[in-house]
Amino acid sequence: MRINEKQIEQVNGRIQALLKADNFYGRRLAERGIKGIETPEDFEKLPFSEKDDLRNAYPLGLMTVPEEEIVRIHSSSGTTGLPVIIPYTRKDVEDWAIQFARCYEMAGITAKDRIQITPGYGLWTAGIGFQAGAERLGAMAVPMGPGNTEKQLKMMEDMKSTVICATSSYALLLAEEIEKRGIRDKIHLRKGVIGSERWGDKMRNTISEKLGIELYDIYGLTEIYGPGIGINCDENSGMHYWDDYVYIEIIDPATGQVLPDGEEGEIVITTLVKEGAPLIRYRTHDLSRIIPGRCSCGSPYPRIDRIKGRTDDMMKIHGVNVFPAQIEEVLKSFDEISSEYQIRMSHLEGKDTMRIYVETTGDVDFADLSRRVAAKIKSAIGFTPLVKPVEVGLLPRNEKKTNRVIDERYED
Ligand code: ZN
Repeated sequence: MRINEKQIEQVNGRIQALLKADNFYGRRLAERGIKGIETPEDFEKLPFSEKDDLRNAYPLGLMTVPEEEIVRIHSSSGTTGLPVIIPYTRKDVEDWAIQFARCYEMAGITAKDRIQITPGYGLWTAGIGFQAGAERLGAMAVPMGPGNTEKQLKMMEDMKSTVICATSSYALLLAEEIEKRGIRDKIHLRKGVIGSERWGDKMRNTISEKLGIELYDIYGLTEIYGPGIGINCDENSGMHYWDDYVYIEIIDPATGQVLPDGEEGEIVITTLVKEGAPLIRYRTHDLSRIIPGRCSCGSPYPRIDRIKGRTDDMMKIHGVNVFPAQIEEVLKSFDEISSEYQIRMSHLEGKDTMRIYVETTGDVDFADLSRRVAAKIKSAIGFTPLVKPVEVGLLPRNEKKTNRVIDERYED
């Protein structure tokens, strides 16, 4: 999906704005003598931008319009050091809502729906994005924010919410709670819109079956508007993204080379019309691929595959690169284990070890299960991990993202 003429024109508009603002990115382009591009080849020579650059521009170094045009900021929390601040103009805020409303529509959600929003409100882009999209669509937003499961379930019953917006972990927690309390017949949910963290088919099926709803993956990141730049359709073959707002490339994370459609690599995003903080060739570190061809749903919007993981999720152990997705792939082939797991890597007696905790029920022979799972994982990753079965419900479930990989090798 090479950049087209219209998109090149839009990128040039953003380059001009950055140069004029003489801000962080404007100076970077000026230093390299970049004044504009003419061909897709020129575009592919533009420098990448990285989260660290955004941090270095803290607090408002990304601002590309006069301050009176900024109506809001959002921030993504860095795990270390400075957060990233993204300024938005009125048009940016509207454009984001338009994209988000498009996502709801793609999921078959209408003005008649009641949308219960559990992601957080505030500096983070999540809650407010779900809200603005719902209002733009004309649906009724039930702005809960995270936590307080008791109240969530009460409102879900009383307000007869038809759509739940949540992280996959929180959707699972709610689904399990609804089942435990036997209140499924009091719940009116028909669809779920789930934030873009990586989650497997097994978890998807569990949530979908327990709640009897259809699930949609929504994609986006704070640096690029927020959630809402893409979502899957009912064909369930990847996520459509809005190429009138963003241009997506897939690159080889090691070499930076642009990969052909269909090949897996890192998602790189260019904002085409963003005013407050345009980004050119922003490296997301999310792993996916562009799905070639037109979707059978008939939508003209291109597609990326479900997010497979993060380039920085990669675990290096015994000289092998392992992605959590590879282990998840094996785990989901066992019916007797749940969708939850935890990978712990530690350094014991001069040796790196990988332990994988899985959940199962009491009537399964733990030792036998452990042996069978370990053997199958070995054939996938090349070495044998220690597989530790535990009772269902023992592994942590989070309202935010569940951290399934813990590396204890480099701790004191
Ligand atoms: Zn489609």
